[in-house]
Amino acid sequence: MRIVRFSPPESAGIGTDPHFGVLNDSDQILVLRGDPIYSGIAPTETTLALSQVRLLAPVIPRSKVVCVGKNYADHAAEMNSEVPKEPVIFLKPNTSVIGPNDTIQWPRMADRVDFEGELAIIIGRICKDVPREKVSDVIYGYTIANDVTARNLQKSDGQWSRAKGFDTFCPLGPWIETDFIPGSQQLETILDGAVKQSEPISSMIFKISEIVEFITSVMTLLPGDVIITGTPAGIGPMESGSTVSVSIDGLGTLTNKVSSRAN
Ligand code: MG
Repeated sequence: MRIVRFSPPESAGIGTDPHFGVLNDSDQILVLRGDPIYSGIAPTETTLALSQVRLLAPVIPRSKVVCVGKNYADHAAEMNSEVPKEPVIFLKPNTSVIGPNDTIQWPRMADRVDFEGELAIIIGRICKDVPREKVSDVIYGYTIANDVTARNLQKSDGQWSRAKGFDTFCPLGPWIETDFIPGSQQLETILDGAVKQSEPISSMIFKISEIVEFITSVMTLLPGDVIITGTPAGIGPMESGSTVSVSIDGLGTLTNKVSSRAN
């Protein structure tokens, strides 16, 4: 099941506040009452065409986006890093989240703004200390993320809060796929028409079950929290006005534009 969040057109007669819906194979959206992570699937009588709406980030992280760094060996190598012995985690603020087709804003402080295509996990219930064999119980679904990074600030700060925490630095979407089973699906990032990253998500060093077990041994996760699982090799800078798309087989494509560079 594909869960979308969207702004409806005024003509739909359901107001202009964001709504959730279920997207079917004919690009029709069955509009839901409430947020399905909290309320379950509560259908209304309204159906809209995908072309009538503006898609938004499919989840509003209530508290946090937890990120895994250096989770693909070839990316660790391109960063001149060792493969970590346990997951390296950091946070992006929930205020960094934007949706598909939203614009990544180039921060005045940044000399270089990079893409990092990643698989994102959406947490479905409050959880702590989840053993790896129970991890599927707490996952609501999956979507695509771009872990946008001001690379020069990541290096100069020595920690990553500023470099990865700017508003608009966490595009998510285009929808949550609740039936996705991570396997050898290909992740691909295309920048202005050129393929920059292309690797199966099975190349992750720490798998989904290990990641969730590890993170929940550190902190409580809430429904709607997001975990992004690391990026493969091929990261690089975007330019002023670039268009960046991250695709994962079975999850669609997340496309965003980059603003003009501030100066
Ligand atoms: Mg990353």
